[in-house]
Amino acid sequence: MSFERANIHAMDGYLPGEQPNQPDVIKLNTNENPYPAPAAVAAALAAIRVEDLRRYPPPTATAFRQTAAQLHGVAPECILPTNGGDELLRLAVTTFCGTGDTLGIAMPSYSLYPVLANIQGCRVAAIPMTDDWRLRDDFPDRLNAAGARLAMVVNPHAPSGKLTSAVTLKSMARRFRGVLLVDEAYVDFVDPELRYDLVATLRSCPNLLILRTLSKGYSLAGLRFGYGIGNPDLIEPMISKTRDSYNTDYISQQLATAALKAAKDASKTWEQVRTERARLSAALQTLGLSCLPSQANFVLAQVPAQASAEALYQSLKADGILIRYFDQDRLRDKLRITVGTPSQNDRLLDRLQAHLGA
Ligand SMILES: *Cc1c(COP(=O)(O)O)cnc(C)c1O
Repeated sequence: MSFERANIHAMDGYLPGEQPNQPDVIKLNTNENPYPAPAAVAAALAAIRVEDLRRYPPPTATAFRQTAAQLHGVAPECILPTNGGDELLRLAVTTFCGTGDTLGIAMPSYSLYPVLANIQGCRVAAIPMTDDWRLRDDFPDRLNAAGARLAMVVNPHAPSGKLTSAVTLKSMARRFRGVLLVDEAYVDFVDPELRYDLVATLRSCPNLLILRTLSKGYSLAGLRFGYGIGNPDLIEPMISKTRDSYNTDYISQQLATAALKAAKDASKTWEQVRTERARLSAALQTLGLSCLPSQANFVLAQVPAQASAEALYQSLKADGILIRYFDQDRLRDKLRITVGTPSQNDRLLDRLQAHLGA
């Protein structure tokens, strides 16, 4: 006898990457930024008094909204602060995709998307990516044919690191009849020379919703703060109806606001990650692991034909190095490796070389 709703009973939950307690483990499995958050965040934390917590926080995180609006050159009404980017995903499903409706996703991608659909009792239209990890040209047509009310794509793509251009996404948004959520969890690590800027296309795309998070670029995964950027018509129902009454707490609002104001400091870590990303990719290549060019803070490495990705993952784990192995179509011969500090990456490369006998 089960008390759960039938769809909850039938579904599997989201499986997060391992979060070990031992401090000496080299964690290259959940795409955290290996460098510290801007110093202004520590100062904001030190300035918080317990007395500040007696009252409820600003319900819509007004100060954060203003800061984010300024950073992106949009109105505060275009910003929706959330408890991690993951809460924005859940709010989008709640708000735009009813029970029995269809959520469209590209496959493979973030495994939380179908979990959220299952919770809501939505159908999932999973549209395979091309062999070279692009969205199919007919992606919006397939979404429309499936009757999708909402679609989620991650850009840069996870787990491949491939970037789709803003021009392509804009044209897909205009062809799609539902809401297109573009999950930009890793956008801070995109090479600035590419001039990728999807926020600039919001004006001409009323159905475009962009996800940002402080978890990756701002080294604040433990804080749980993210936000949506979209036109006020999309943001408003989530601000005034579907959001929890106080969805972000006072402490996280203070720290997140300080972090965004120090975006320039954080961007120095993004540059370091980009430099290491290039070095790590080249070194993996030398060991026989081919990597796609990545615009995120991880690389997807294909192991040599005679090696087993799962065995390598296990051997590295025994060495105290965590990376990610996905037991999934298209990914069983690959490893997703977060870009660490130079010494972490050196240690990984050293152990990989030993296991490969290269
Ligand atoms: C990290 C991540 C998010 C958001 O994570 P939060 O920690 O909840 O902000 C969203 N999408 C993808 C693909 C991610 O990797």
